Amino acid sequence: MRTRLPAVAAIAFVAVVALSAQNAPRDVDLIVTGGTVVTVDAAGRVIENGAVAIDGADIAAVDTAAAIAKQFRGRETIDASGQIVLPGLINTHTHAPMVLYRGLADDLPLMEWLNNYIFPAESKTVSPEFVRAGTRLAALEMIESGTTTFADMYYFEEEIARETRSAGLRGVLGQTVIQFPVADAKTPADALARAESFINEFKGDPLITPAVAPHAIYTLDGPTLRAARELSKRHDVPTLIHLAESRDETKVAEERHASSPVAYLEGLGFLGPGVVGAHGVWVSDADIQVLKRHNVGIAHNPESNMKTASGVAPIPKYLSAGVSIGLATDGAASNNDLDMFEAMRIAALLAKHESNDPSTMSARTALEMATIRGARALGMEGRIGSLEPKKRADLITVSVSGARQTPMYDPISHLVYVIHGDDVRNTVVNGKVLMRDRNVLTLDATAVIAEARSWAAKVRAAVKPAAN
Ligand SMILES: [Zn+2]
Repeated sequence: MRTRLPAVAAIAFVAVVALSAQNAPRDVDLIVTGGTVVTVDAAGRVIENGAVAIDGADIAAVDTAAAIAKQFRGRETIDASGQIVLPGLINTHTHAPMVLYRGLADDLPLMEWLNNYIFPAESKTVSPEFVRAGTRLAALEMIESGTTTFADMYYFEEEIARETRSAGLRGVLGQTVIQFPVADAKTPADALARAESFINEFKGDPLITPAVAPHAIYTLDGPTLRAARELSKRHDVPTLIHLAESRDETKVAEERHASSPVAYLEGLGFLGPGVVGAHGVWVSDADIQVLKRHNVGIAHNPESNMKTASGVAPIPKYLSAGVSIGLATDGAASNNDLDMFEAMRIAALLAKHESNDPSTMSARTALEMATIRGARALGMEGRIGSLEPKKRADLITVSVSGARQTPMYDPISHLVYVIHGDDVRNTVVNGKVLMRDRNVLTLDATAVIAEARSWAAKVRAAVKPAAN
């Protein structure tokens, strides 16, 4: 006959096991520990000797190193002592393969640079192979300099998507739609069909957000602009466009449409959530209100704008109007690199210089534009842009132990005014380590650079040197 005693003992035993299981650290895939964690969360939390626990693609917890060690055991660990840990940087506007045109033609106004050098070079050299080689080089540079997400507008975007995915980066990738014949489409209708099959191929991918990229109002007619926007609405994907970049663009808008670029697009029914306008330099106060009302994101490209002398985007006005504004490098042909730390620094300096007011853009705002505000401009703030539990694990670590970074009173000041892309030590995207102690794990750096050099010889042969 069974007594009740063993049952009571069993319950007690189960309770003890459950209790110790609760106290035992939970296994997670990766712990980045020991650095100063700059979360860029809403509270602006900075954790000295902090740690981030990562499980699968997601952030499980962000806390002090001691608290994380108590709760979690990492299958893999990155020691970030002597480093700052921060969200991966978000480049809201670039043309990745254009790294192969880096330094091809400098010191020219935008339209001359485009019409006499870039468009001819593209017509002679852009191919699927070119785009793949260029994306590999761009991905290598981005991983090495701390960019984890980039928004792209180019040709053969499916090739860019494949290379981006295999490098492990996150991309909002827009297939270009343009009025004249280009390497991947003879007509705008071809380009739209190509964009639709691109969307169908990559929709739902964990790393790739497919998008439609109508080039600009000066390279497209109204019906094509409308069709491109309709296509992205139909598939609920972003629309990426160059917007109000140069004075020449505003002239075209005035002459052809008797309005500003922004007002023209509003009249077409083009504006709305999901639209990301690159540049937004030549906008009136009324235009800014229109962009805000339609929840359009803006990608600010300070270096490219300065280099082509296209003007200065009114960033303080955008910020006070509450427009979502991210930071970007533009293509490397007009920058001439993809270093988002440099973009932060130049954005902050340019805003101060332009306004004669050093408080116009703080280091914190510049950092937010390269992270959470950029995520918001791309409609991705629920997934990336800050180090918070349940967001995707996209983070980087930067060294702050060298002469140039010593002493450090304020890590956010250092991130904007001191750190270079070369200071990045580790890059993690979607929970996967892409670079560990400056060794890129997803690309063969030597092969990528050699391949880019051989493409450069073909580019040089196709386009004569710019007269200086
Ligand atoms: Zn651009």
